[in-house]
Amino acid sequence: MWTRSAASQTTPRAFDHPIYVTRPLLPDFRTYTEALSGIWERHWLTNKGRVHDALEQALREHLRVSHLSLVSSGTAALMLAYRALGIAGEVITTPLTSPATVNSVTWCGLTPVFADVDPERLTLDPAAVERAITPRTSAIVGVHLYGMPCQVDSLRTLAERHRLRLIYDGAHAFGTQIDGEPVSKFGDATILSFHATKVFNTAEGGAVITEDAEIKRRVELLRTLGIQDEVTVALPGINARMNELEAALGLANLDIVERERLARAEIADIYLTRLDGIEGLRPFKLPARVRNSHNYFVVRIVEGASRLSRDDLYERLKSFNVFARRYFYPLCSNFSFYRDLPSSSPVNVPAANRAANEVLCLPLYGGLGHDAAHQICDILEHLLGKPDRPQP
Ligand SMILES: *Cc1c(COP(=O)(O)O)cnc(C)c1O
Repeated sequence: MWTRSAASQTTPRAFDHPIYVTRPLLPDFRTYTEALSGIWERHWLTNKGRVHDALEQALREHLRVSHLSLVSSGTAALMLAYRALGIAGEVITTPLTSPATVNSVTWCGLTPVFADVDPERLTLDPAAVERAITPRTSAIVGVHLYGMPCQVDSLRTLAERHRLRLIYDGAHAFGTQIDGEPVSKFGDATILSFHATKVFNTAEGGAVITEDAEIKRRVELLRTLGIQDEVTVALPGINARMNELEAALGLANLDIVERERLARAEIADIYLTRLDGIEGLRPFKLPARVRNSHNYFVVRIVEGASRLSRDDLYERLKSFNVFARRYFYPLCSNFSFYRDLPSSSPVNVPAANRAANEVLCLPLYGGLGHDAAHQICDILEHLLGKPDRPQP
């Protein structure tokens, strides 16, 4: 167990190897190669293979959803969802997200309109969304950022009142629940990413989840070039298939993902216990009713209140071999190709701009180990000062 040691008075040790923000979850090598041997025997690599269908079924049960369609990436999942829902014109979304959320809107010939986030939750502010609605608006795309669920009830009311489609980017919300309800039950569709940096990964991959059988049917046509049968191409689809090698990795990882989530929860507890009270550092916390996916551990380095700026801290950590990440800086609305949109003005999205300048993701993965987590806390105390609270 951690005890306050004299060592924390002096400069803490740097790590002797780089510590990155995450390390992809991998199953036991033998488990994976055994799964591969079946694929070799069947000589079936893609196009709704046996492993692919088994993973779809296993994920539906794990996430307790009606329809889940595997695809090649989270970005492809977003593009297919927009197409399957027949979205046209303007799409209201948050600028505080991966470029994937917004670039997929543009890639589908739609116009992104940025609305600000709630300054604490960092998810879309429903009042800001309402102000952004025009006669051209056809959809709202909310992001459950860092596993913080959007305000699903307010957004549903808004979407119903204005007849808008509602899509959630749940790339950070694998297994997230609100009061025991899977977060992917909300909206017309929810997308997941199974990229290597996500808590559940298939190296590259993603999924579209929906409760609507017709949406699922369209997604599944669109992910495979719109091919309905040998002589019918029903929709102008793309190739967004997941292959058997990725699906096999997914099946093996699904067996260990809950153990990984719990291991991450222990690391997060160490960070929370040791970092709470450091001046100018505010851990990002989820409400008690939310089951945490533990995809990221995020702190905000409050401008002006901390001994170091966020960017200085980010740089100084590197000299200790700690490679934190500033997800999601820069803000999408500040990209060269979006910054001239009227909604990109910092006056329109002040809370998102502020957050993008304050957030820092600390290393979080089960294999990090408790000692390393304590060492990272020692380094943060050294750089930012000790917590201002009664010492144990
Ligand atoms: C990772 C991520 C995506 C995209 O996922 P890919 O699988 O890399 O295409 C989408 N949205 C958010 C918020 C993400 O973090």
